[in-house]
Amino acid sequence: MFHAEFKGKVSLVTGAASGIGNAVARELAAHGSAVVVGDIDAGAADRAASAIREVGGQAVGLRVDVSSRGEVEAAFARVEADLGPVDVLVNNAGISIDRGVRGVTDEEWQRTIAVNQTGVFLCSQAAARSMIPRKTGRIINIASRAWLGWFGQVAYASSKGGVVSATRSLAIELARHGITVNCLAPGLIDTPLVRSEPPEVLERLLRAQPMGTLGEPEDVANAARFLASDRARAVTGQLLYVCGGKSLYAQPA
Ligand code: NAD
Repeated sequence: MFHAEFKGKVSLVTGAASGIGNAVARELAAHGSAVVVGDIDAGAADRAASAIREVGGQAVGLRVDVSSRGEVEAAFARVEADLGPVDVLVNNAGISIDRGVRGVTDEEWQRTIAVNQTGVFLCSQAAARSMIPRKTGRIINIASRAWLGWFGQVAYASSKGGVVSATRSLAIELARHGITVNCLAPGLIDTPLVRSEPPEVLERLLRAQPMGTLGEPEDVANAARFLASDRARAVTGQLLYVCGGKSLYAQPA
């Protein structure tokens, strides 16, 4: 059953071939948006878009590495030419590769910042340039509860702290142009990224969850849909945790 909430809108979701981004793409498509499934994995992006089309949604797959200015600008130009300007940008693409301050390499640090933080900047800049003249737009950044601090993940947590901070500055600058910018901070969500943790780490993380379970990608997608909608027009610069209450506790994950 498809609904008209986002009829006529174009949404670009980065990292949408998998996990949270995929759930967000499916949710926006199910509510009427044309969706661009942006991902560094072109084949997976095409398959995800095709799965959305199979259930009646409008979606296209697009290869984009969000850490590359050239690829990001080319992706926005392509979307605008094919579908129209982006109304809703969901900056979701992210990686988690560092494991402990003593071992993190320069390459891991730089790649983490490049994808998680610079990627948000590059996509938001490209979106803002086309949204400002139209005086409308929604930017939703997927940070992480880990920005509060996460044992063994100094690069990942730092990059997400940058996303939270960028959200606030972008919201202030873009508010007068009718564009809202908000941030979601998921806790542990059942995706390939989390399932790649060693079993003993996953078990420890689960024990620390107030609800005792992993969240589902759809939990984040529901919150993203609200922030993307007209109902959230007065909400900007905000950080919403989707973490089952974990942000209420001070102890590290
Ligand atoms: P995932 O690994 O399942 O999916 C991430 C997707 O991003 C993949 O399809 C991957 O190909 C794509 N990607 C990676 N690098 C890219 C790049 N440079 N350009 C474009 N696409 C790229 O991960 P997920 O768990 O769904 O995470 C999605 C987002 O949510 C990430 O930003 C992550 O940090 C954040 N997050 C996840 C959790 C969790 O528990 N899963 C918790 C908090 C925050």
